[in-house]
Amino acid sequence: MSTTQFDRIALIGIGLIGSSIAYDIKRLALAKEVVISTRSAETLKRAEELKLGDRYTPSSAEAAKDADLVIVSVPVGASESVAKEIAAHLKPGAIVTDVGSTKASVIAQMQPHMPANVHFIPGHPLAGTEKSGPDAGFPGLFKGRWCIFTPVPGTDEAAIKTLRDFWETLGSRVDEMDPEHHDKVLAIVSHLPHLIAYNIVGTADDLETVTESEVIKYSASGFRDFTRLAASDPTMWRDVCLHNRDAILEMLARFSEDLASLQRAIRWGEGDKIFELFTRTRAIRRSIVEAGQDVDAPDFGRHALDAKE
Ligand code: NAP
Repeated sequence: MSTTQFDRIALIGIGLIGSSIAYDIKRLALAKEVVISTRSAETLKRAEELKLGDRYTPSSAEAAKDADLVIVSVPVGASESVAKEIAAHLKPGAIVTDVGSTKASVIAQMQPHMPANVHFIPGHPLAGTEKSGPDAGFPGLFKGRWCIFTPVPGTDEAAIKTLRDFWETLGSRVDEMDPEHHDKVLAIVSHLPHLIAYNIVGTADDLETVTESEVIKYSASGFRDFTRLAASDPTMWRDVCLHNRDAILEMLARFSEDLASLQRAIRWGEGDKIFELFTRTRAIRRSIVEAGQDVDAPDFGRHALDAKE
């Protein structure tokens, strides 16, 4: 792996993902200059206080000007407006990428505005937390995590390699797939779990028989893990729902069918059926730990927290 040092990297959007990338660029000296742009004066000021870049501007066009690498880290629904703003200011030969959680929609929004002489390579790092904003970022977020590229056919291979080297230097493993496949896979591994969490926490909140204090007080069991997902950024997740609609609706339909089948098994006392399902799902958890995508610590490694309680 040969790591390129870019003359100028533009980070457009500086929330959890943008700021985590900024920390790693600095830590690993991947750019001579980092220019940061975000729409609000407040976030821009915070990025400057955190010393995330070398130059700060509210204009994404100004940030993109003369950059060799432009990384767009905004909610997916804002992709088109950013693409329109930066298009005329991109340097010939520049690489433009994004980190959005849905890919077909981002490509439909950005690709038509990209000049023929820049390399647009859509990407999605599978890393994050439920926090948002520049204060949520930290170095090393992408270490050991996958980053998926969904390049359009005919994309320059050398540009893909340069971007691959960048993410690998951040510690990620890079895979390529077509955007529709990405959106289907992510609908099941990420989008559906978030929707289930939002829904469960919403249901608990609506239940009149369980007071709010009991939901909070007894949350050590199960519910607490859902509340972490359900605390994720509402704007980001609204956009994910609206921009991966078809794949999410398909997965929700499958989920509802399977839930109805489990409901039926419980109603009719079909213990074997229930046991078989729970055994199968336990094996999936083991595979995830073996693949290095989680730790095997009991209770998601929360013993330290429990000791304090
Ligand atoms: P975030 O912390 O909420 O930060 C969002 C950034 O985008 C901020 O700089 C914000 O600017 C800007 N922004 C918000 N709305 C905008 C709009 N309408 N137009 C232009 N800029 C706008 O979000 P994040 O978690 O970093 O997520 C950024 C992207 O990464 C999203 O596409 C998300 O799908 C993807 N992603 C997120 C995760 C995760 O776990 N969070 C993981 C992988 C990928 P201001 O603060 O100045 O308003």
